[in-house]
Amino acid sequence: MADTTFAERAETFLNDLMREHYQVGAGLKETLELAAIYERNADLFAEATVRERVAALRLDASKETRHLADFAVGSFVENAVKELSESIANAELKATVEWDDKQIPYKNIRPVLVREPEYRRRHDLQARQFAVMVKQNPLRVQRLNAQHDLARGLGFADYRAMIEQLRGWDLPKFHKQLNPLLSETEDIFERELGTRLSAARVPRQAADTSDVAYVLSAPEFDAIFPGERLVPVLAKTLERMGVSLDSTPGLTLDTGARPLKSPRAFCAPVRVPNEVYLVIKPIGGQDDYRALFHESGHAEHFSHVDAALPFAFRYLGDEAISETFAFLFEHLTQNPRWLVDVLRAPLREAEKYWRFALFHKLWFLRRYVAKLEYELHLHDEGPSGMETAYRDILGDALHITIPPERYLDDVDDGLYVAGYLRAWVFEMQLRDFMVEHFGEGWYESRDAGGFLQELWAVGLRDAVDEIAQTRIGAPGLDPKPLIEELLSG
Ligand SMILES: [Zn+2]
Repeated sequence: MADTTFAERAETFLNDLMREHYQVGAGLKETLELAAIYERNADLFAEATVRERVAALRLDASKETRHLADFAVGSFVENAVKELSESIANAELKATVEWDDKQIPYKNIRPVLVREPEYRRRHDLQARQFAVMVKQNPLRVQRLNAQHDLARGLGFADYRAMIEQLRGWDLPKFHKQLNPLLSETEDIFERELGTRLSAARVPRQAADTSDVAYVLSAPEFDAIFPGERLVPVLAKTLERMGVSLDSTPGLTLDTGARPLKSPRAFCAPVRVPNEVYLVIKPIGGQDDYRALFHESGHAEHFSHVDAALPFAFRYLGDEAISETFAFLFEHLTQNPRWLVDVLRAPLREAEKYWRFALFHKLWFLRRYVAKLEYELHLHDEGPSGMETAYRDILGDALHITIPPERYLDDVDDGLYVAGYLRAWVFEMQLRDFMVEHFGEGWYESRDAGGFLQELWAVGLRDAVDEIAQTRIGAPGLDPKPLIEELLSG
């Protein structure tokens, strides 16, 4: 397939896929019908096509060729293991567990778990959840081994080498750079964790992941975030930045009330930049605010991409850059200054929430740094016997009992864990730059909005390491500002 034909076909495929996800998520369509879309495009996932893209990469290492090869390989591998993915998903959709003399769906355990105030009951419910999960672990082993075989079959040294080459990453180096995040936040993490577990009446020695999930749900803060103000404060914030929702031609805010609409906000970049949806069913509470602001960062980014850029830069490339804008906007909902000025929260409450949100972030970052180390072992050594490595590596970072049963369920394809970490690191570098150049209230500055629009215009073309160098004068990705933020609570 010629380069231009491949790019055009891939773009149409993504348009169709995104439209289907948008319509189902927005409650406009009852069932997700992906099979027909994949069948129509079967030649995009054919082995001959992917081999052609990988061969092109060997001849020309330009970003455009690399992004197209990344897309071709990713879709090829996903398509090749889709029966296994479906078997795992369907088994868990059907499964139920017994709880308080009732059968509850496996998929609904989490909301029940985070509302259960008694730790022994939480542990009991979580054990029932894992009893279902482990049944699918043999399928997960098969799926991971298949992914590893496919990578070698395409001529890469192994799965990690494949991801690193397609993304332009050096993961052991990146992991080494992140080590100080664990060592330097060790004490503050233990202190915060201990205080919060004891407030939740969990004996320190008994604590496990279900107790942290309970602590992090923190319903006491939901009153700061009223449902009816969610959309108006987002609109006001964006307007002050000079990027108001209705000034962006391609962006549609979908607030329509439909029974089947997803309760969680999402962004659907159906056609970039001319047809981007930001979908919301405003409920209120900290999670809802966090989710809508996060998704609005994605939506502003995609709807401001230069339409003249090739497909490979409008849709494909370093996903960490889109996550960076999402994190930047999400962070506003934790910024005490924004909480007081825009949301009119009492200062004391705003500061209390900020401290909580910082602990929440510290938990996630320590978890992700440990997960990166674990996933490097998993992909380099294969899944056999990895339960222990998962339990020990995450346990060391998180100071609580880690369930070995999750050693495969807790892994995203394509080492995506590194993508999130890259975004968290760069977001703090970018936020520091915004504060330095546009002030603490950067989100009220049209100049700041103008600067962001320049960054948005290049789509996913440049990796965050490169943007750090070319746009904010940093030597590259640097976790130091992030570590400082985590220590500031
Ligand atoms: Zn995101």
